[in-house]
Amino acid sequence: MGTIIDVAYPANATAVQSQVLQLKEKKPDVVLMITYTSDAILFARTMQAQDYKPPMLLADDAGYSDPSFLKATGKISQGTFNRSSWSVGPAGSHTALIAKMYKEKRSSLTFTDWWMFALRGETVSGRVFSVILLPTSECNVACDYCFERKEPHRLSPTLLPLLTRRLLDHLENEHIEECEIYWQGGEAMIMGPAWFENAGEVMNRAAAERGRQFVHYLQTNLISYSRPGTE
Ligand code: SF4
Repeated sequence: MGTIIDVAYPANATAVQSQVLQLKEKKPDVVLMITYTSDAILFARTMQAQDYKPPMLLADDAGYSDPSFLKATGKISQGTFNRSSWSVGPAGSHTALIAKMYKEKRSSLTFTDWWMFALRGETVSGRVFSVILLPTSECNVACDYCFERKEPHRLSPTLLPLLTRRLLDHLENEHIEECEIYWQGGEAMIMGPAWFENAGEVMNRAAAERGRQFVHYLQTNLISYSRPGTE
């Protein structure tokens, strides 16, 4: 049997560079993670920043089963394996009812199957397709754990209809009715509210014309947030 090491970190840690450095130096074949959501996100970003990826990362439920982990880490969490407990339970139970609702919404895949597909960045069902779009990689702050290359680049309004058309082509080809768009950055709100209003109108109108639907989500640090009408 090989060597097993425990790498601990304090509760409420805001930096895990030294823990990731330990992993990097020890070169384990497998890293087993049990963390809360915020810690899972912090580890994923720190590993990315330190250019470290274990041969296998096995997560045990907790933060890795939280959908916000995937939203926050996006493609850098690709390849992660997660174990989530799920039992359908007896007919008529709450869990059986939830499983039925889930299957109606998300095809015949189990929740665990769906999550593993999502972690690999693949289409998760025949009905919903999820995409992360970065309208800019610029940001208005400088977090010390940030891994973004903050190049001065913004998605132009002239490119948006082309991008929309390509997405809708894909939805049609794959017989998918709904596309979830996760807008991220950099700091996505650098583009300003008007840009997003216009993008939403352009995309949603084009989707409706082809019998499809976009659902938009926004990840922001809220630094440029102001109440409507006060900016
Ligand atoms: S808020 Fe900006 S600096 Fe902080 S992690 Fe996000 S992109 Fe990087």
